Amino acid sequence: MRILYPGIFTLFIAALLFCAASALRSRKSMGKPVFLLLCSLVPPVAGNLIIAVAGSGLIATVGFYIYFVGMDLVMFSLLRFTFAYCGISWPDRRFNHIFCFLLLADAVQLLLNPVFGHAFGVCAIELDRNVFYEVVPYVGQAIHRILDYAVFVTVLLIFLVRSVRAQRVYKERYLVILLVMVVVGLWQSYYIFSDEPVDRSMIGFAVFGLAVFYFSIHYRPVLLLDQMLAQFASEMSEAMFFFDFDGSCIWANDPGAALVGVTGGNYDHVHERLLEKYGDVVDDEGDWCTVRRMGENDAPRWYILEKQTVSDRRGRRTGSFLRIRDNTEEQLALLREKYLANHDSLTDLYTRECLYERVREAIQSQPAEEFLIVYIDINDFKIINDIFGSAFGDHALRIVANRLREKAPENSIYGRLGGDTFGIYMPESAFDEAELEEELSDFIVRDDAVEHHLLIHLGVYEVTEPELDVSLMFDRAHMALLTVKNEYQKHIAYYDDEMRSRVLWNQIITSQLRDAIRDGQIRPYLQPIADTDGTVVGAEALVRWIHPTYGFLSPALFIPIFEKNGMIAEVDKYMWRCSCEILSRWQEADSPKFISVNISPEDFYFMDVAAELRGIVEEYGVNPAKLRIEITESVMMTDIEQRMKVLYDLKNDGFIVEMDDFGSGYSSLNLLKDMPVDVIKIDMMFLKKSNNDERARTIMNNIIHLSGDLGIYSLTEGVETQDQYRMLSGMGCKLFQGFYFAKPMPVDEFEDKYCAESRKAS
Ligand code: C2E
Ligand code: CA
Ligand code: CA
Repeated sequence: MRILYPGIFTLFIAALLFCAASALRSRKSMGKPVFLLLCSLVPPVAGNLIIAVAGSGLIATVGFYIYFVGMDLVMFSLLRFTFAYCGISWPDRRFNHIFCFLLLADAVQLLLNPVFGHAFGVCAIELDRNVFYEVVPYVGQAIHRILDYAVFVTVLLIFLVRSVRAQRVYKERYLVILLVMVVVGLWQSYYIFSDEPVDRSMIGFAVFGLAVFYFSIHYRPVLLLDQMLAQFASEMSEAMFFFDFDGSCIWANDPGAALVGVTGGNYDHVHERLLEKYGDVVDDEGDWCTVRRMGENDAPRWYILEKQTVSDRRGRRTGSFLRIRDNTEEQLALLREKYLANHDSLTDLYTRECLYERVREAIQSQPAEEFLIVYIDINDFKIINDIFGSAFGDHALRIVANRLREKAPENSIYGRLGGDTFGIYMPESAFDEAELEEELSDFIVRDDAVEHHLLIHLGVYEVTEPELDVSLMFDRAHMALLTVKNEYQKHIAYYDDEMRSRVLWNQIITSQLRDAIRDGQIRPYLQPIADTDGTVVGAEALVRWIHPTYGFLSPALFIPIFEKNGMIAEVDKYMWRCSCEILSRWQEADSPKFISVNISPEDFYFMDVAAELRGIVEEYGVNPAKLRIEITESVMMTDIEQRMKVLYDLKNDGFIVEMDDFGSGYSSLNLLKDMPVDVIKIDMMFLKKSNNDERARTIMNNIIHLSGDLGIYSLTEGVETQDQYRMLSGMGCKLFQGFYFAKPMPVDEFEDKYCAESRKAS
């Protein structure tokens, strides 16, 4: 007893102090009260340690004082702890104050024992041949015990009430402490009435302290957590299944149970049912997430399956859970969205982008058969809209789309390319030209009020170069279509070798233009212009390309191409420069001849024509009146006000403006009267017709007279014979150009022929 209990007490003191420090450091709200309680438990245990080892009555007495006063301290801190642990609110704390006062008074009363000797005495007893010291209680000690019991019982009652009232999951934290306290209380009472010299119930006190420490600072209500998690999982809309390490289901939430048809908490068949429904999703190792499409094709359902493994701290698999979410609504919404993005709202056909994409995929899959790309266009659809209204127009488009749907052969892909154009990718074997021609020759659209014959054309491209971009394939089919665009008898045209070589040609000369200009392959030819006396007074500069491989190229072979891709501006600017360079040479040689240059309608899109021409004549120091500007009527077809302004600017700068190819288009003398035009060049077609057409001759005569009345000079192009020259002179025409005088020729040749005098002079 001398060694065992002191040893145990010392260990408990150390443990209590350690836990007290730990409670303080925990920074939890319970940290402080627990710290205080654990610290207060140290003096009674220490007091009993002293009593157990005391060698004299005096030392034992000191031990008893520490023990008894320490117990008051324990009761005080036990109260504080109880209030904090049980969350008791303010008014009840009044008891606390009363108890505190009483405990303080009791401690004072005990400490006065050496003076009055009223509390207790100490007597020595012999046990196992050892001398121990025992307390002999007097009235003071009885008061002390009554008070401590009162506090202790109060605390017990508080815990008892709490344990009864608390929810099931919280009962544990009260019950355990209550139980320990009851045991400690009984133990202590046993000691009081026994004649043991050492209070062994101190062990109980210390254990109580450690229990308090655990429950207040470290304990997490596992049961509560369990319950909360289970509820959380139950209330989730997705199905959840929990499996143990060998894959048996241990629990499923309600949606999960409903999904696999489990009732009454019997999860035996969950594994089997999941296997039937979704395949092996349970034993499949690892964490994964997948989307499964299931059910009938006309009413599919989608599920997101997510599996997660649960492992212990050492990474061993302890179980897993599976979540299954019905994703059908989202998937359907997504499909709807995708459908709307890929389908034209009017006809429900694929949009152009989607059609191209699908065709691209089909071509990449390298079909065994030959396939065609067909471009479908409704002629003059704009007019249909204008005349019959856009509702009828829409109706017509829907009819065409429906016909396309009906007639499209198997393995074909079709869609709406845009406004009034459609496209189809189809096997060549299914394309029956005769049948289609027949059908297109009589394509009638009608609604209640209107019946209209649609003129539809098809352009066909055979997919011979599958590596080509799909948009280019449709371009080719379209190109073929353009060759029959306005025909009524023929509705189908094929992209053929000729078109192919034309495309190739376009690519070649477009890529070579810049170098050709730099290397002087592009050069002006001059065609003389004569007056009524037959004297050459000027020339028209006409472009020629002397190609190193293809030889002499007429402008008809490249001008239309460059007009389409905008590179005509480069050619024209170069021609204007060359012309000014020639004029500046002539000026020095004192030759009064002019040069007419051509301006393409496209030039206006790529530069400020007036500023450009002004800049060039200034650069070469040429009198602007010597550089005549030929524009065609088509220039005035768009943006008329702006173009008119350019013409006025040119005129103000001193240029002479000529209207080229007059009479070839929608020419109108009416327009001419508002235009600052100095010369009209009557188109050579007029002259050709006038050879055997009296009416044409009369019109020409009138044009020449009327323009004269408007103060405009007339020039006739394409004069090939002396008779023509005579006739035109008789009509009053002032200037002439044509093979009768000379064909266009190289600049030196022109200069040799017509500038010889002035040349000699220079
Ligand atoms: P254009 O401006 O009407 O030029 C007159 C065309 O008629 C020239 O053809 C000329 O060679 C041809 N011609 C002249 N007299 C006769 C004749 O008596 N009988 C016949 N049958 N033809 C005659 P060319 O040089 O082939 O030019 C064709 C067209 O190319 C030009 O028609 C013009 O529109 C365009 N062009 C030529 N050079 C240029 C240029 O530098 N820039 C632009 N933008 N266009 C040009
Ligand atoms: Ca011309
Ligand atoms: Ca002309």
